[in-house]
Amino acid sequence: MNARRDIVRDGAVAVLDGQIVAVGKASDLEQRFQAKKTLGALDKLVLPGLVDCHNHAPHFLSKGFIDDMRYPQRWRDRVWPFEAGLDEEETRVACMGTFIEMVKHGTTCFWDPGSMHPAGVAKAAAQVGIRGTVSHLTWDVHDPSAPTQYHWNTAEALAESVQTVQDWHGYNQGRVRASFSLVRGSHVTDELCRQVKEQADAMGVGIQAHCATSRSEFDSAMETWGYSPVERFHRAGILGPSTQLVHMGFVTEADIEVLKRFDVSVCHCPSASMFGGFGGVSHGRFPELVAAGVRITLGTDAAAVSRFLDMVRVMYLAACAHKDAKADPTVIGAHRALEMATLNGARSQLWDRDIGSLEVGKRADLLVVDTDGIEWQPDPLTTPVANLVYSSSGSAVRSVVIDGRLVMEDRRMLLVDEKEYVREARERSREILQRIHCGPRLVWPTV
Ligand SMILES: [Zn+2]
Repeated sequence: MNARRDIVRDGAVAVLDGQIVAVGKASDLEQRFQAKKTLGALDKLVLPGLVDCHNHAPHFLSKGFIDDMRYPQRWRDRVWPFEAGLDEEETRVACMGTFIEMVKHGTTCFWDPGSMHPAGVAKAAAQVGIRGTVSHLTWDVHDPSAPTQYHWNTAEALAESVQTVQDWHGYNQGRVRASFSLVRGSHVTDELCRQVKEQADAMGVGIQAHCATSRSEFDSAMETWGYSPVERFHRAGILGPSTQLVHMGFVTEADIEVLKRFDVSVCHCPSASMFGGFGGVSHGRFPELVAAGVRITLGTDAAAVSRFLDMVRVMYLAACAHKDAKADPTVIGAHRALEMATLNGARSQLWDRDIGSLEVGKRADLLVVDTDGIEWQPDPLTTPVANLVYSSSGSAVRSVVIDGRLVMEDRRMLLVDEKEYVREARERSREILQRIHCGPRLVWPTV
């Protein structure tokens, strides 16, 4: 993933103090460096770590809650009671599951659009060893379906977010950062948008916001304001190179021009859109956004609405779903999808100086991927990017290095006891289910 997109055959990466100091032919690097530890990768693929730019990390314990359910019902009856019911410790436990699943499938950096307990998110990230950005999800328009403790005015909403950035930006030796996060256009005032942009710029951090997720959101924006959800954020002044708009299935020709002009990142979450029936694939103009030069990133959204956190599978959907929607096999494709999941994700999180590629001077976030599975045959390494995205999955990731630290080796998590975590997650999940009186949707009788 360097500027020329070189694929180095028989290559090696040298890492010193967490930083990449050389990338090149193994025969050359072996002569130049005496390694303390060598991670063998013969016949394997070494890639930059994948960046998941939109994931509600605490939702891991709600997997199965909203299967095949319509939007207002799933939000009101399931997502809200779950989110509002979690305390900080439960948030931490839930996020551990998200981060373990991410690392096991090659994600080394996440961006959480925010929960009520960013402390739990940040602590879980540090425990698992993953890199990422946390935030406090915010809004200041009264939502009658929201629990009463989450009715904020503009000053309260801003204060929570500022506090989150002050508390967590730079945590865990810089592996955790913080950002601002607006829930969606209909739930934030112009004044909150203005103040969030001002604060984010002053503090040097990003902003993310859900935008143009559904047909109904687009229609109600046209009815309320007379223009699209993207245009509303444009007029509210939050667009810029440090802003990421998420989902974005319903955008106009004029919106595409505005997004390009303001260098905004657009996060595509195809697995969530397909599972949740958002319409992002059937109505989304992602091929047009790519053609216009808009930076597209990828996200899993949440365990409950994606059902998997494997970014290789998400890359497959981003690469292929629009071929079908446009009836054109030449749109997007595997190589662009890998750029979205690495360089673009890093740039969107304002982290591109440090991550997103295997280049000298960057931090060592890298994956070793097995290519000996039958799905890689008969020619695993001639077109490795296409083989990874089209034929394989994140389960082929064998070892993961984040910030120079080995976090998974030979599929074994090194900083956490995965078996012990699974036991705890099952127990906590049962407790939460009982407390909020909901559970997995059973379709067939269990006898
Ligand atoms: Zn979301």
